[in-house]
Amino acid sequence: MSRRTVEKQTRVAVIGGGASGLAAAAAAAAAGAFVMVLEKEERVGRKLLATGNGRCNYSNRYVDIKDYRSRDLDKAEKILSRIGQKETLAFFERLGIWPRADESGRIYPSSEQAAAVLDVLRMELRRLGVEIFCGWPVKELKKDPKGGFRIIGQKGEQKKADRVIIACGGMAGAQYGCSGDGYALARAFGHQIIKPLPALVQLSAKGDFFRHLKGVRAKGRVCLEWEGTVVAEQSGEIQFTQWGLSGICIFDLSGQAMELLDQGKDCGIRIDLFPQIQPDAFYSRLLNRLSVSGHKSAEEFLEGMIHKKLIGVVLRACGVESPAVPASELGEKRIHAIAAMLKGWRIPVTGARPWSEAQTTSGGVRLSQIDPGTMESLLQKGLYFAGEVLDAQGRCGGYNLQWAWSTGLLAGRSAAGL
Ligand SMILES: Cc1cc2nc3c(=O)[nH]c(=O)nc-3n(C[C@H](O)[C@H](O)[C@H](O)COP(=O)(O)OP(=O)(O)OC[C@H]3O[C@@H](n4cnc5c(N)ncnc54)[C@H](O)[C@@H]3O)c2cc1C
Repeated sequence: MSRRTVEKQTRVAVIGGGASGLAAAAAAAAAGAFVMVLEKEERVGRKLLATGNGRCNYSNRYVDIKDYRSRDLDKAEKILSRIGQKETLAFFERLGIWPRADESGRIYPSSEQAAAVLDVLRMELRRLGVEIFCGWPVKELKKDPKGGFRIIGQKGEQKKADRVIIACGGMAGAQYGCSGDGYALARAFGHQIIKPLPALVQLSAKGDFFRHLKGVRAKGRVCLEWEGTVVAEQSGEIQFTQWGLSGICIFDLSGQAMELLDQGKDCGIRIDLFPQIQPDAFYSRLLNRLSVSGHKSAEEFLEGMIHKKLIGVVLRACGVESPAVPASELGEKRIHAIAAMLKGWRIPVTGARPWSEAQTTSGGVRLSQIDPGTMESLLQKGLYFAGEVLDAQGRCGGYNLQWAWSTGLLAGRSAAGL
């Protein structure tokens, strides 16, 4: 390439070499820009390697706006309609990744290795001549009076670019380099940030019994409640941990739970361990069960219905002094209490596990200040955003990486001038 041609190229700097930044860099370079990626860590894509338990659930067959949350959901929908799952799968297939969906629609590379996704992205960036600077934490971003931007590193070193894509992620998975740097960079240009809170994370809950329940799993329906109103609900496997509740269904409610707590609202998770049976029918079934269990203890009476470790907790909460009490002595009142608890056990939520254990961030740069057709800032020409730094969160199942690819590819293409 001649020097003249190089000079004519748009210089695009991508801040952050995670999922969205690498996709943005590939798209910008493929569209003819000269691209550099500035990454804080010693390697790009570290978080990507940890996704999907090392298998990288990189999209979902059923991507739908209903699976996302944002203050500006209409904008998120427009973005996902510009570049969605189909275009993303085609992009990765061109790079060499064959998709394979599981029965619930989660899409993984057929090699089932997250490393493959990172490898093909790196190969593509190498092919396109993208410059990658690792160990380059961006501290400040400024408009250059002569045009374009000045990007300032931690030690005062500087780089120049015509256009900049902020793809620094949010605050989830802090051990992979994410500590919310993108918010400060965005704020400097007047962008509004919706308070970042951990999401897709285990919830901590009140109850001294949790330390005995570590490792217990149960299937059921879980509702996030506030003042008796169901705010959201999910079904699936509930995992009890020493601190509270986990499992995909809990993860999917965690962002909203954290928002309620942040607003000072006491919220709780109500667990229905037998969602397939109506409350009255369930109570009658327990009474029937009792009629043939007179020879058993209270503990033995519940065995086979719920996990053995849950029995003691349920009996205690329902006022049964000892699990050895004869079942025949439980009485209708206690059976009623047991039925009510198994159909609607309310657990007060107290918080979430730390950022290092969260899979995504609720909140971020407000989408209403971004052009959904290009990902360009409406406040600063030449400044673009991609990925988790933005206020949009998907549920578990490949939706967050889909958001990273959609926004990254769109921002990259637009920043290159297409
Ligand atoms: C354990 C785990 C498992 C997950 N599994 C899945 C999954 O299977 N499917 C799914 O859809 N989602 C999954 N996610 C979520 C998904 O990984 C994120 O949504 C996605 O990585 C966000 O992409 P991003 O590019 O916006 O941010 P990131 O991938 O977090 O990348 C941001 C990059 O910016 C860099 N950076 C930060 N600050 C600076 C700075 N100042 N200067 C330079 N660089 C900076 C960081 O070091 C990082 O490399 C998972 C998350 C975790 C933590």
